[in-house]
Formats: sequence, structure tokens, C-alpha cells
Amino acid sequence: MTETLLIVEDEARLAQLHLDYLHSNGYATYWMASGNGVVEWVRAHAPRLVLLDLMLPGCDGLDICREIRQFSQVPIIMVTARVEEIDRLLGLELGADDYICKPFSPREVVARVKAVLRRTPHKPREQRGIVQIDEAGYLARINDHRLDLTTIEFRLLTLLCQNEGRIFSRTQLMDRIYHDHRLVCDRTIDSHVKKLRKKIAQVAPDLELIHSVYGVGYKLEYRETSEVNPVD
Ligand code: CA
Repeated sequence: MTETLLIVEDEARLAQLHLDYLHSNGYATYWMASGNGVVEWVRAHAPRLVLLDLMLPGCDGLDICREIRQFSQVPIIMVTARVEEIDRLLGLELGADDYICKPFSPREVVARVKAVLRRTPHKPREQRGIVQIDEAGYLARINDHRLDLTTIEFRLLTLLCQNEGRIFSRTQLMDRIYHDHRLVCDRTIDSHVKKLRKKIAQVAPDLELIHSVYGVGYKLEYRETSEVNPVD
């Protein structure tokens, strides 16, 4: 699942500039030129971040922001044409994560996007906020400790995290994490899992994350060692 940034901007030239810069910084982007359908799109696609222009034809960015906040904590950066507007916006407590005033350089936008994404790590559903996956940056953290993973280990962890509780067979895991369909022995997966567990244990010794399911494969579930083996 690629993480997508949604850009809501009615000025096509400006939107194109954002798209180019964000794209060249490794983000997938989607552009909407008006406010129509934005709330529904966010609901359906759960983007990683929304860059939301305040003044949109036939629609107000404020209302969109409020509506999104009814059901989602997706990071929102509001874009306004007037610097004095920002104080008023802050007072409205819309729940936006940052505000940018036009005119701005595309570089500044990228910097703000990165900063907001850093502050708001992606948390796969039902995850109790332990593992943080940044797909665009190929980074994984546990309790804010960075895991030093190979690409294959990263894909493995991401897949399992995004499907918490689901059991995968070794073949399914191989199909999903080896994009080039290399022919590998299914025991290769065992060796990746072993290394991944070791790396997880280095940063979170009490966390049991990846579980073997006898005769089937693996699944991810959050368990503290102490939950399984009480000390007293
Ligand atoms: Ca506008």
C-alpha cells in the first residue's frame, strides 16, 4: 500500500509545482482542483497527509477540515493566501497540523510536509502505537527506536503490521515481499523472520511481535513477554 498525499488546490500551476516537488521527494500524490468530493475521497483512500487550500471555488477549506476531523486524524496542512488569516485559523481550533501562507516556495512546502509527517508517524490500525512505519522513507521504528532493516525485512514487517492478526503462509509472504518473483526456498522466510525478531528484540526486548503458527506460517500480534509469563 503506497502512502499518498492529497493536494487540494484550485490553482493548477501551483498544484503542479507541489506535485512535481513532492513527487521528486519520493511521495505519491493525488490532486483535487476543488473541494467537491474531498471528504469522501479522504474517507475512501485514507491518505497519509492532506495539503488543503483555504479558498476553494464553491467550498470552504475550513468546512472540509472540520468534516475530515469528524472521522480521521490524517495530518492536514492548511494553505492560506493571507498571513493575518493564520491567527484566526488557530483560534478556530480546526485540528489542522500546520498552516502555510502563500506565496511560498515549493521547497518550504516539502520541508513542512516532512516535518508534519515526522511528528505524526503512520500507525497501522489497531496498533497501540508501537511500530511506526514510514513507507516512503523505508523506515521503521519501535517506540521511537529506529530499526536497521534490510529492504526485505522492512517489507515483511510492513506487510505483517498492515494485516495485524492475519496468518500468512511462507509462500504468501514470499510472493508479497519479493517483487521480482525470485525463486527462493520457503525457508528463506524463516531466516528473514529470525533476523527481524532479533532486531526487534534489540530495541524492545519485552515485545513479542511476530508469531509462528505451527504448520502454517506467521502472523503479527502485540504481546508483551510479561503478559505471557507473569513474573510472580
Ligand atoms: Ca485557492
